[in-house]
Amino acid sequence: MSAWYQKTAAETAVEFNTHPEKGLSPEEAAARLDQYGPNELEERGTKSRWSILWEQFTEIMVVILIIAAVVSVFLNEITNAVVIMLIVVLNGVLGYTQEYRAEQAIAALKQMAVPLVRVVRGGRITEISAREIVPGDLVLVEAGNKVPADGRLVEAVNLKAQEAALTGESEAVEKDHSLVAGAEIPVGDRRNMLYMGTVITYGRGRVIVTETGMHTELGRIANLIQGVEREPTPLQRRLENLGKTLALAALALILVVIGVGWIQGESWTTLILTAISMAVAVVPEGLPAVVTITLALGAQRMLKRESLVRKLPAVEALGSVTTICSDKTGTLTENRMTVTLLDVAGDQRSVDALLERGIPMRRLEADIDRSLAPTERTLTLLVKAMTLANDARLQPVDGGQSRRAIGDPTEGALVVAASQLGLEKETLEERWPRVSEVPFTSERKRMTTVHETLVPPAETDAPWRDDPYVAFSKGAVDSLLDITSRVWVGDGAVPLDEDWIERIDRANAEMAANGQRVLGVAFRTLDELPGTGSQGEIEKDLTFIGLVGMLDPPRPEVREAVAKCRTAGIRPVMITGDHPLTARHIAVELDIARSDSPTITGSELAQMSASDLEERVEDVPVYARVSPEHKLNIVTALQDRGQIVAMTGDGVNDAPALKKADIGVAMGITGTDVSKEAADMVLLDDNFATIVAAVEEGRVIFDNIRKFIRYTLSSNTGELFVMLLAPFLGMPLPLVPLQILWINLVTDGLPGLALAIEQGDPGVMRRPPFKPEEGIFSRGLGKQILWVGSLMGAVSLGMGWYFWDLAGRPAVGGHHVEVHWRTMLFTTLVLAQMGNALALRSNRESIFKIGFFSNMAMVGAIVLTFVLQLALVYVPFLQNIFSTAALTWWELLITLGASLAVFFAVELDKWRRRKQD
Ligand code: ADP
Ligand code: MG
Repeated sequence: MSAWYQKTAAETAVEFNTHPEKGLSPEEAAARLDQYGPNELEERGTKSRWSILWEQFTEIMVVILIIAAVVSVFLNEITNAVVIMLIVVLNGVLGYTQEYRAEQAIAALKQMAVPLVRVVRGGRITEISAREIVPGDLVLVEAGNKVPADGRLVEAVNLKAQEAALTGESEAVEKDHSLVAGAEIPVGDRRNMLYMGTVITYGRGRVIVTETGMHTELGRIANLIQGVEREPTPLQRRLENLGKTLALAALALILVVIGVGWIQGESWTTLILTAISMAVAVVPEGLPAVVTITLALGAQRMLKRESLVRKLPAVEALGSVTTICSDKTGTLTENRMTVTLLDVAGDQRSVDALLERGIPMRRLEADIDRSLAPTERTLTLLVKAMTLANDARLQPVDGGQSRRAIGDPTEGALVVAASQLGLEKETLEERWPRVSEVPFTSERKRMTTVHETLVPPAETDAPWRDDPYVAFSKGAVDSLLDITSRVWVGDGAVPLDEDWIERIDRANAEMAANGQRVLGVAFRTLDELPGTGSQGEIEKDLTFIGLVGMLDPPRPEVREAVAKCRTAGIRPVMITGDHPLTARHIAVELDIARSDSPTITGSELAQMSASDLEERVEDVPVYARVSPEHKLNIVTALQDRGQIVAMTGDGVNDAPALKKADIGVAMGITGTDVSKEAADMVLLDDNFATIVAAVEEGRVIFDNIRKFIRYTLSSNTGELFVMLLAPFLGMPLPLVPLQILWINLVTDGLPGLALAIEQGDPGVMRRPPFKPEEGIFSRGLGKQILWVGSLMGAVSLGMGWYFWDLAGRPAVGGHHVEVHWRTMLFTTLVLAQMGNALALRSNRESIFKIGFFSNMAMVGAIVLTFVLQLALVYVPFLQNIFSTAALTWWELLITLGASLAVFFAVELDKWRRRKQD
């Protein structure tokens, strides 16, 4: 194969049978996709079916069960062994199917995380998934993009790429399309090529794709895991510790039970098997699996609400968020901008008025037309400049019926306004072709383009009468004034003195105070074309032309989302690069700030020490004119004050803040690939309200996990209560090992899974967030587990004791002797669990209010468990195995009654707590 970097761009285009401007035809692209396959790297991130299956049987509790089965065989307890193994297999199958489902949910999320790429096909720019790129495609890249495939540059403007993924070199490399390199040079020096997985940090470019998928340099050297990452969540880690603690506790308890049992004369066989089943009884073996499944399915539910979770811990952390720091443009506002005002030389015109009565801009040279008033000439110059220093363009849609701006919405608005006023960007660009540029960055908050003045209008008094080049800049007014020395007044330039600065500042402030986004526009002439890297040379001594004001309405749904935040104990904060007054206006409108709330600007931030900022950071709702680096300071200060911070970001330089935040949130539509990669979560609709929805979902998930914990641990407490106290009442072993296993693996598991998909309490967003240092057992969970567990234990043990007493207190009932009183105890405990599960569905609301049938999975689980329990009690074969005896109707009703008692006790407790507040 030939090395593409040794060929010219034109040669490469010929080799790939593609057009360096129009790209491939859509048909050809489709054919090549068939031929070469999708542009993706082979995945190593997903777990294989086999490893999921293997994990089911290597979990510590399952291993204990397997040992128990083996021990049973040696003790000649074959039935026991078989049943235990059956339970192990059943548990494995259940775990496997659930986890496989979770795995698929994660795989689906990964698919979603593949970035979109801009390609030119058949002469039109379209956005497609990076997977659909084929060799020969013409791909457009710009700062913030991740390069989707390997390619030969055909155009590069100030292009720099960071190629650490390939070369390990973190310094960005300058790229140049015109070079042709020598033979055998290393990847890092092939400056006319772009490589998959590297990142564009500056400028823009166009490449012909040469290699895709596993044939790229990156594919050759490594399998990089794209998309969703998997790490244990803090909760999962805490649960692991809990498991260990419980295991130790179990050990102690087992010693007690065995000691007492031995004194009472139980056989060693019984005691060993009991010890093993008690170990199983104490540890909530379903917990890790349920947590994983709940998180993965939760992530899937969030996707339906337009938030793509990239890292699973985010699902859980979302529930604890205390502060949401949000961008303004596009997230709080619609990012649908309309130019409303033009302001030149102290004279302001609304676009509407211009359109109605209008000044004609149809002629390109209107700005030098002496028959027009100076203001009108300057207006034309303003519109020209704002259209030329601009990367957006109008593209026909619906078969040419109408046109739509593509590119940055701010810039799109300018192009649309110019077109309405009679100046088409395309015509302007033919007349003043762009020859160089200094791209926009969030730090400078401005951009500049350099144009050739093809026909110098020598006989006129155009500003660039004598010069071959003219540069246009647009950007934040303050940023522009820094590099401006004169003002254009229609006939010529006058020095930018104090008066002018004051006039411009006032106009700027007035517009901003009305919520307008304001851009300044300026120009300068150049007698020669500056070389690359000379942005300081270009951006100086400008002549100010005027201001453009545009409106970007707040998103209607955000007000409600903000209100929701407040009741949920979450503070919304606006962080924007925009003018403080614009920011404040929108913030007040959305109720993020009051009109007397403080605002901190980027330049103030730069002056503040870390401790100064920490002191104020919890009171300031609006940060304006900030640079990306300030976001990092704000996150750090908030975190130092103990806040859990969600932070949005879309730009190239937002990655550090996104990584630092507890939840980094990237924008799905306007966000750069770099920001998405750094984020924990991507908003598919860029909407603030979606963050709040995700927080809500996160809280529901956390609640459900807590409900599951509460359910299993109270069952376990009940069992322990019975096992520990029975000997002191002089009773023989109250539950046989298989009964304990049954409770722990079946009657815990089925309703437990149903709890995991419970819909949220209506009140989830009306209570303060969980602090990370709050343990799992906070807010009364531990107490509830203890009292409900003890209640279940007491009711069952009482029932068992009564029937044991009735039967004349039989002394020894070996572990496979069918005993009537034991069946009563066992069934009562199982049915009490059902009552508990039902009442637990909501932490606060009564089940009569949320409805018995609002979680059909729970209804199914309870019915199924009940039927299985009846089978255990009445089917002779199962009676033998589980040491049960048939109950009469009356007795069955009594056990049901006991379970109702537990149900009402838990409901009563909720009622009491509702009364309290
Ligand atoms: P936000 O935080 O609201 O998204 P940005 O960081 O996008 O704000 O913009 C900050 C400032 O940079 C704006 O107020 C504007 O003055 C300037 N600006 C934004 N986009 C452009 C652009 N395409 N060209 C020139 N200046 C721009
Ligand atoms: Mg922005």
